[in-house]
Amino acid sequence: MLNRREFSKSVLGAGLGLLGSTKLRGTAIPTAFQPQAAQRPAEKCDLLIKGGTLIDPGRQLHAPMDIAVLNGKILEISAEIPESRALRVISAKGKIVTPGMIDIHQHCYDGVSDCVNADHFCLAKGVTTVVDAGSAGYPAIANLRKYVINTSVTRIKALVNISPFGAVGVGGTVDVLKAVDPELAAKAVEDNRPVVVGIKVRLGNEIQGADDVEFLKRGVQAARAVGLPLMAHIDGPYSPLTELLPMLRKGDVYTHFLHAHPHGSLDANGKILPVVSEARQRGVYFDVAQGRSHLSFDVAEKCLEQGFFPDTLSTDLTRVTASDRVYDLPTMVSKFMALGVDMGKAIQMVTSNAARVFDFGAEIGTLKPGNDADISIFEVREGKFDFEDSDGQKRSGRQKLVSTAVVRRGELLVNEA
Ligand SMILES: [Zn+2]
Repeated sequence: MLNRREFSKSVLGAGLGLLGSTKLRGTAIPTAFQPQAAQRPAEKCDLLIKGGTLIDPGRQLHAPMDIAVLNGKILEISAEIPESRALRVISAKGKIVTPGMIDIHQHCYDGVSDCVNADHFCLAKGVTTVVDAGSAGYPAIANLRKYVINTSVTRIKALVNISPFGAVGVGGTVDVLKAVDPELAAKAVEDNRPVVVGIKVRLGNEIQGADDVEFLKRGVQAARAVGLPLMAHIDGPYSPLTELLPMLRKGDVYTHFLHAHPHGSLDANGKILPVVSEARQRGVYFDVAQGRSHLSFDVAEKCLEQGFFPDTLSTDLTRVTASDRVYDLPTMVSKFMALGVDMGKAIQMVTSNAARVFDFGAEIGTLKPGNDADISIFEVREGKFDFEDSDGQKRSGRQKLVSTAVVRRGELLVNEA
């Protein structure tokens, strides 16, 4: 577990560890060494990430680039930034550098049920922004904000679950329609803006059975009342997708769309259902969120074969999935690379694509001067790696992303690996 104080110590420790490469020089930079393309060539920076390969799909960048950070913001990105300008230098040689990853579906109401600690399970793995996807309903959202979101280093946003029970704890497996009040959910959103960025609804036969259509209606009602997106967990619902999916509009999210349970995204012949294609054309986002039981490699491969790619990869992380099959978001990226998705495209799903889904209150998911310095550095390990879906099916990949360092708002955390 990494609380805020420990995180600060790690950051400090990381800094001390880097003193060997720190360059502090009083002399002026010789003109001949000043970068031609630099906008502000003489400006000092707090941190320089040097020699890595930048992969920033949101800006179509895939090239060796140095990144300078000042006062928690990105100062400059260019091919060559001299070490003499930096108080601290971290070498990313042989590694890839990406925008801080964004996990739009996980559960970090730390201390409640089997939720994870975001700083420990997400930030330390290269994930600088997460969305808690409905761990709390209207009675508990203020405490999630006060005790978790406000005390974490990770940028955390949250969805209010339309069920007052949330997705964890008492009532976590059975939602009762009569307890669902869209007006109270909408009020909880208003009381907790801008931390709350949407509404969550869970639809599954074991959760509320034949009441799923009415549940979804109430979720839609609350989301429209506050003008924010609805994330719909739809896995093995009682009702067919043709009754549910048409209720989602542009900007809403269909999460768990690659499950292999009844009423999934494919027809009996493995073809994408028309109602699914229509939802994408309308602008509904398709999110993976593997969790305990929501990803089938067979379904994923059939979708990919038909050119139907996820918009976002996410974990649906809990303590259980953090230690089995899912692990973390970079592992999800590696898993989809093993399924044949290009590395840049897979990274896009957890950076610029994910950034578009919710209002994060800042420009994230891409790296450019002026943005918050949320940056991830990964080693791309080569070898044979087995990845598992929710049914224990395995696929092998040749590459795996492992976080070696992460920068959150300019602060550097180095992983000991
Ligand atoms: Zn979830």
